[in-house]
Amino acid sequence: ESQLNPNYNFDNFLEGDSNRLARSAGMAVANKPGGTSFNPLLVFGGVGLGKTHLAHAIGVEIKDKYPEKTVLYISAEKFTQQYIDSVKKNTRNDFIHFYQLIDVLIIDDVQFFSGKTGTQDVFFHIFNHLHQNGKQVILTSDKAPVDMQDIEQRLLSRFKWGLSAELQNPDFETRISILKNKLYRDGVDMPDDIVEYVAKNIKTNVRELEGAIISLIAQSSFNKREVTLELATQVVEKFVKNTKREVSIDYIQKVVSDYFQMDVSTLQSKTRKRHIVQARQLAMFFAKKFTKASLASIGSQIGKRDHATVLHACKTVDNLSSTDKQFRKYVEDLTKKLSL
Ligand code: ADP
Ligand code: MG
Repeated sequence: ESQLNPNYNFDNFLEGDSNRLARSAGMAVANKPGGTSFNPLLVFGGVGLGKTHLAHAIGVEIKDKYPEKTVLYISAEKFTQQYIDSVKKNTRNDFIHFYQLIDVLIIDDVQFFSGKTGTQDVFFHIFNHLHQNGKQVILTSDKAPVDMQDIEQRLLSRFKWGLSAELQNPDFETRISILKNKLYRDGVDMPDDIVEYVAKNIKTNVRELEGAIISLIAQSSFNKREVTLELATQVVEKFVKNTKREVSIDYIQKVVSDYFQMDVSTLQSKTRKRHIVQARQLAMFFAKKFTKASLASIGSQIGKRDHATVLHACKTVDNLSSTDKQFRKYVEDLTKKLSL
């Protein structure tokens, strides 16, 4: 079982300036798996920009051209779970052996390996074996290797062996062609000015772009209304309001250090100067509040602290904001800045 989704292929992965390099590197790999210098091929970019789609497309294309090759798509999360299970069941060697026999291994969202030393270790050995035997490895990640946190150096250096290609936010033209293609495949007619209106106003990522158009189609058919520019305006407005921008821990650290006019590196430093400690504690507090990251992961990303330090920071911020007026103002100001 390859776990590949045939609905994610190259035909419906539309090309634009924002994805041209990654797409053509993916094509090159699909034509000659293991036979290019793009090994591993690492595709990175923000949420909803097409990493998973492209990863499947490469696998689907390889399976089409080389049916005899074993291709496996797996998320880093699932890989980690399988590894943990294998350790529990004492079948770690079988796990390694299974992966070493694969011709094309595709692992999605490798940032998930961050901080998981056991999984990184086992993946390191599997990677080396595959690479030495001319097998292809394809990885996706939300960050470039240089920006990855808590991934062992030896693994990061392997990630850099091949090609890292970025998926960027699609430009206006690409957004139009993605929308038109989707409408065409769904058999929906929509006037050009409306498609353009949506493409002009939803700029964040492809997933939201698709979400807006689906919502527009649904609105018009539920209410038996024609798709007019007026309806589009309503739907898009609601959509933009409802889709909260994804706040990352990096972004939080940037906003907090800007607010206190210090560098992110100062915020993360080991110093015990009071105003820096407070800034760091606020960053931890907001990371807990605005992201789904665990205490341990927050700590490791904000100056390599442990989970107890983060827990302490959150309590301190809670206490201070009920006893200290100035501090409460910090919390309010930052909450506003971060919820924009
Ligand atoms: P990611 O894994 O980066 O979060 P996905 O691969 O899940 O993003 O893509 C989100 C949605 O956008 C999917 O429905 C995908 O098919 C679509 N999409 C992304 N890029 C393109 C593209 N270039 N052409 C067509 N659809 C795209
Ligand atoms: Mg994905």
